[in-house]
Amino acid sequence: MTFSDLGLSPALVKAVAEKGYTKPSPIQEKSIPPILEGKDVLASAQTGTGKTAGFTLPVLQYLTATKHPKYRPLRALVLTPTRELAAQVHDNVREYSKYVNIKSAVVFGGVNAKPQIATLRSGVDILVATPGRLLDLHNQKAVSFNRIDVLILDEADRMLDMGFVRDINKLISFMPAKRQNLLFSATFSNDIKKLAAGILRNPVSVETAPQNSTAKKVTHKVYKIDKSKKTEFTIKLIKDGNWNQVLIFTRTKHGANKLTEKLIKAGISAAAIHGNKSQGARTKALRNFKDSTIKILVATDIAARGLDIPLLPYVVNFELPNVPEDYVHRIGRTGRAGAAGEAISLVCSEESEYQSEIEKLLKQKLNSTVVEGFEPTDNDPPKRAASQSKGAFGKKNKGTSSKGDRLKSKPHFKGNRPESTSGRGRTGAPKKKRY
Ligand code: AMP
Repeated sequence: MTFSDLGLSPALVKAVAEKGYTKPSPIQEKSIPPILEGKDVLASAQTGTGKTAGFTLPVLQYLTATKHPKYRPLRALVLTPTRELAAQVHDNVREYSKYVNIKSAVVFGGVNAKPQIATLRSGVDILVATPGRLLDLHNQKAVSFNRIDVLILDEADRMLDMGFVRDINKLISFMPAKRQNLLFSATFSNDIKKLAAGILRNPVSVETAPQNSTAKKVTHKVYKIDKSKKTEFTIKLIKDGNWNQVLIFTRTKHGANKLTEKLIKAGISAAAIHGNKSQGARTKALRNFKDSTIKILVATDIAARGLDIPLLPYVVNFELPNVPEDYVHRIGRTGRAGAAGEAISLVCSEESEYQSEIEKLLKQKLNSTVVEGFEPTDNDPPKRAASQSKGAFGKKNKGTSSKGDRLKSKPHFKGNRPESTSGRGRTGAPKKKRY
């Protein structure tokens, strides 16, 4: 199967060939034909599957084929949950539209709106946006949705988690009823099904992996460990393993900052990425991580969502997420594009319940182990995996004092809400079950 076989025009095929894509990914094979036919599509796809090209290419083809010779009204809108994802999707749109006469733009919060308004006024065929800023711009009459033909909701589950549902519905209320709708989501909760039912008409369902399943090539490893030893253990993992590019997840913004500080103090280049960081700082951290200027990116769930970081060998869950679906999202960053990956979780006694919920979702037990020198003391200890007691590091661990680890004295997560529940000032709290 080639991109031409899917019905894409030579101009688009040329652009993807220049990107080095030799054949369509499974999600592209399944989603491009129905989108080209003008059908609504409900797609289950994680980031890393090539979903962006899956919706962008057919939409670009439609826009090119139906372009007005003189006017350039906004006809396609991609909504994404985060600024980084918006920027990333727009980068792709620009690359794929290199050989077609289509103008694209991206708008998101945290940066000056004036240049965005000027770009919108100059005429744009396809816009990538985060819901909050777009609503602001629409309120300011900087953009009209009267001619929207195609609406794409990318990572719809995360948009719901972030409390964007009201903004999305409001935005939709300004659009023509007759339009094509494409909804991409990694997970399918009841809330997503409800949103989809309200927006999509007779959608074609496209699935690339079983619901809520994790990439097959990812191996899961759980280290049972005291909370107070996690930082020290993480530093050890990085140093002993000679890790050069690792994404570490924390539940809170505060936790991300603390861990980053400690890694830097230990001589490991690191940066944090979360909702309290300025857009400039977030972009810089991501760029530095991608070009290997820094080794470690410490992220909260929201900030990391949808980031395109190819071929990450390791993802570390410094803390388990309290929403099991977030685990699936997190480990979507490893084992991508067919490469093997490892998802490593540091689990203290208070997180055992989170682990059980994740195992229920994955329908799979996570392989738990303890490492000598880091045995949990606040836990009913799991069976010691003899091979792991030294094997992971090749030698016996020494010097495991946790003195000076300020995390130790903190009550677990108290006053330190996960970023995903803080809602970043958006409307309402997420409806997902929290436990
Ligand atoms: P996405 O899931 O859209 O974030 O894409 C993940 C990564 O896969 C991006 O770096 C894309 O450039 C890349 N990609 C998308 N489609 C293909 C393809 N058909 N062949 C190879 N790489 C691809």
